[in-house]
Amino acid sequence: MTVSTAERAEIASDLDRLVSDAARGLYIDGRWQNPNPGKWIDVADPATSKLVARVPDGDIGDAMAAIDAAAAAASTWRLTPPRKRSEILRRCFELMTEQAELLAALISLENGKSLADARGEVAYAAEFFRWNAEEAVRIRGDLGWAPSGQNRILVDYQPIGIAVLITPWNFPAAMATRKIAPALAAGCTCVLKPASETPLTAYALAALYEEAGVPAGVVNVVTTNTPGPVVAAMLNDPRVRKLSFTGSTRIGRALLATAASNVLSCSMELGGNAPFIVCDDADLDAALDGAMIAKMRNAGEACTAANRFYVQSDIHDAFATGLAERMSRLTVGRAFDPGVNCGPMITADAVTKIHRLVTDAVDRGAKIRLGGHPMQGPGYFYAPTVLTDVPAEADIAREEIFGPVAPLFRFDDLDEMMTAANDTEYGLVSYVFTNDLKRGFDLAGRLDSGMIALNRGLVSDPAAPFGGTKQSGLGREGGAHGVLEFMEAKYIATTF
Ligand code: NAP
Repeated sequence: MTVSTAERAEIASDLDRLVSDAARGLYIDGRWQNPNPGKWIDVADPATSKLVARVPDGDIGDAMAAIDAAAAAASTWRLTPPRKRSEILRRCFELMTEQAELLAALISLENGKSLADARGEVAYAAEFFRWNAEEAVRIRGDLGWAPSGQNRILVDYQPIGIAVLITPWNFPAAMATRKIAPALAAGCTCVLKPASETPLTAYALAALYEEAGVPAGVVNVVTTNTPGPVVAAMLNDPRVRKLSFTGSTRIGRALLATAASNVLSCSMELGGNAPFIVCDDADLDAALDGAMIAKMRNAGEACTAANRFYVQSDIHDAFATGLAERMSRLTVGRAFDPGVNCGPMITADAVTKIHRLVTDAVDRGAKIRLGGHPMQGPGYFYAPTVLTDVPAEADIAREEIFGPVAPLFRFDDLDEMMTAANDTEYGLVSYVFTNDLKRGFDLAGRLDSGMIALNRGLVSDPAAPFGGTKQSGLGREGGAHGVLEFMEAKYIATTF
């Protein structure tokens, strides 16, 4: 989408207004509150490292006030007719869609991703409201006879209760709406704790929910510089019944332990280490198109990002050349500059980590086909990179890269490759490219991950169950599964 100079100027002034509105306070019980004057979280533009805004640094007392608000709103919201809930969710979709260009600019500002990626995120994020507006009026129970023939089995689905939602910085809109929309469709109230790097989008969306008619207390948003104690306090409150977390496996593990004391229902969307498999019979252009999407969406800062490219010998050299050529055509820079399609990393630490992984691989014998170095600041940029001949024991084969680096591993034998592909604690998504559909489904069946992209570079779809196996998570978001994560089955045995 091209934006004219006049439109650009208008967006810039609207964006200033949106930023100051979003930074006006914690959002608790339908009110913007600033209870701790002088305590702030700094929000920076990762493309310039300059301060963009400050949002309040909430404490345990603020989090408890948000839980109080969610508790007070709970009984009315769960009894609000599904049709009414559905129409409010639908309105959230419409408002997000109407304001898509501005929301995309806000995401680019605080996260750094390219405007094309940010627009894609807004469309994806809004879609969770449309999908869950439709789900809200289709939640069905079940009625049947017990096998003994002596009684009936009735199954009803009820809202699980107050939900604590925690989201990462890499999709500041979509990770929030992927939780809030099904929670509201199910009849739950919630408290969202967004990532400290990208709180503005969460607050901008809260204003939009208010406009759509979401009642006070149903969605509350609290930002904090001390997520450990603040989140623990919420999870230890007996009124809370649900934790839905998206973020790293390390923090996810710690939160599961905290959630154990009150035996909370937990949905966990955690890290990934996706294999991207190119068989020698694959369509080369399709595989390269898929690789660019799977690797470079969000400049590689995605849990679904292809992390290890396993490429069969006969197609390996052509694939390596083609990938390096396409990666070299990317324009790296600030999202708002013309032509940019690859933004900065979120922080300086992220660049340091990526470079550590690249350096380790090269020290162990990998060859740099493209890039392989951080780029000149002031922001946090890393050059699009292609590595070949990466040894299996390199750290990059085990750790999430979360950046624009594609490590290639050559293979001959499919079975040996499958063993390597599954040799990870993660199991979020795997990509397979082959023109032999039988082989594709065989590999899909043997890959230990929650999602498979077969001849595609993208799996995310609000209508499909998103989630991982092993240490990539528990539960699913999206599809028919998403709303059930916020519901409890109640079984009634009866004779009539
Ligand atoms: P992170 O460091 O785990 O942080 C995620 C969220 O947890 C943030 O809101 C963070 O708050 C909060 N947090 C940090 N420490 C906490 C604690 N002790 N107690 C409670 N909450 C705490 O992850 P990230 O760096 O933001 O995101 C990147 C990770 O998310 C990657 O591993 C990626 O794969 C994963 N991810 C997974 C999915 C999926 O669907 N599976 C989707 C997107 C991202 P602060 O920001 O204040 O630290």
